[in-house]
Amino acid sequence: MRIDPENGISYEVLREAVPYTLSKGYKRGFVNFEEEVVFLVAGDKITTTIPLEGLEFSEDDPECPECGTRIQKTCRKPRKCRFCSTRIQTEVEYPSAS
Ligand SMILES: [Zn+2]
Repeated sequence: MRIDPENGISYEVLREAVPYTLSKGYKRGFVNFEEEVVFLVAGDKITTTIPLEGLEFSEDDPECPECGTRIQKTCRKPRKCRFCSTRIQTEVEYPSAS
């Protein structure tokens, strides 16, 4: 992991992270799967970084049609994008897009 507690967050690690609506009370964050780290967000600030371990991510977590934020499947219904407040229709199966 390239995150050094003394030097803070590597900008590159954050830049490669994807926005995510998280479950389990974490609300919002940015996830870098390669580095296995989650940046938790409150307001417009990153408050904490936590390891990805133990959080359930899936390759078919739905995406917000408005802003592209991904939503953890384990979020309680109704799922709602916490970045732009769009309600996510999870019943619809989208073809896998790259
Ligand atoms: Zn959204």
